[in-house]
Amino acid sequence: MDCDRCGSEAVMHAAYSGAHLCAEHFTRSVEKRVRRRVREDSLVSREATPEEPETWVIGLSGGKDSVVLTEILAETFGEDPRIELVALSIHEGIEGYRDESLAASEELTEDLGIEHEVVGYEEEFGVRMDDVVEDDPENMAPCAYCGVFRRDLLEEYAEKLGADKLLTGHNLDDEAQTALMNFLEGDVKQVAKHFDASIGGFDDRTESDSFVPRAKPLRDIPEKEVALYAHLEDLPAHITECPHASEAYRGEIQELLLKLEENHPGARHSIMSGYEELAELAADAYGGDEEGNLGECERCGSTTSGDVCRKCRLLASMEAV
Ligand code: SF4
Ligand SMILES: [Zn+2]
Ligand SMILES: [Zn+2]
Repeated sequence: MDCDRCGSEAVMHAAYSGAHLCAEHFTRSVEKRVRRRVREDSLVSREATPEEPETWVIGLSGGKDSVVLTEILAETFGEDPRIELVALSIHEGIEGYRDESLAASEELTEDLGIEHEVVGYEEEFGVRMDDVVEDDPENMAPCAYCGVFRRDLLEEYAEKLGADKLLTGHNLDDEAQTALMNFLEGDVKQVAKHFDASIGGFDDRTESDSFVPRAKPLRDIPEKEVALYAHLEDLPAHITECPHASEAYRGEIQELLLKLEENHPGARHSIMSGYEELAELAADAYGGDEEGNLGECERCGSTTSGDVCRKCRLLASMEAV
């Protein structure tokens, strides 16, 4: 098949749009969609100026999604005096896994000339994920612990680095999975939170004083296209899967969505466009509801609705083992 735009050999066919594109036109189309999302979400605040630039912290795991996000943002905003980019990587303490992806992250940020911070569970909390998995004091899946620790560190360091925004590499498949999971769990409040935390444009969401606002500029790009982009641009992305990966329910939803997409091309896009509209309504109804109940954790000072935050409770049960 030939590229629709120039007639060279196509490297991809997108069933949902009917497009056949060559390497050059495909990579340009990915970049265009990311930039459009940045515009539509009003990511660059009107207050950002060369004298008072905004700091965007990018969560960089070293996997293909965050690597592609970092590359495209650096290409787009690297020379823009209104925006300062900082990459933040988290080391969970997983033998033979994170070391390689951190090496990929190092290489990328050096190439792009952007600041790179690395923080680890071991230095910060005194635990490594490998030990957490072995002790498992709460009888939970590894990702349930890991997600709490990661969110805590991202939030804490985004703040320390002076972040105005925290950007993550979630792609269209990730977001459609989360949308479907929220529906199937019947959790409308979670839908409202999802809107305010990351999918609403900055002009539309209820802003929180307690958390650094998040954005997901890759959320229009299907996972396969992110992977193809990383490959074609020869980016240093790490592909091994985490040995503790355990989100069984998400895996089921992922299979379901891929099947749906195969039989009904465009399913992920239409799920997201309907979901975003509903999520905005839910956010209008529930948004900012919990703000009033939030206080500081007695142990670590991070924002929580109880006396002690979830991370400190998990760490306490690790200590009790
Ligand atoms: S797959 Fe789970 S355990 Fe592994 S790094 Fe990700 S969240 Fe942590
Ligand atoms: Zn072409
Ligand atoms: Zn705490």
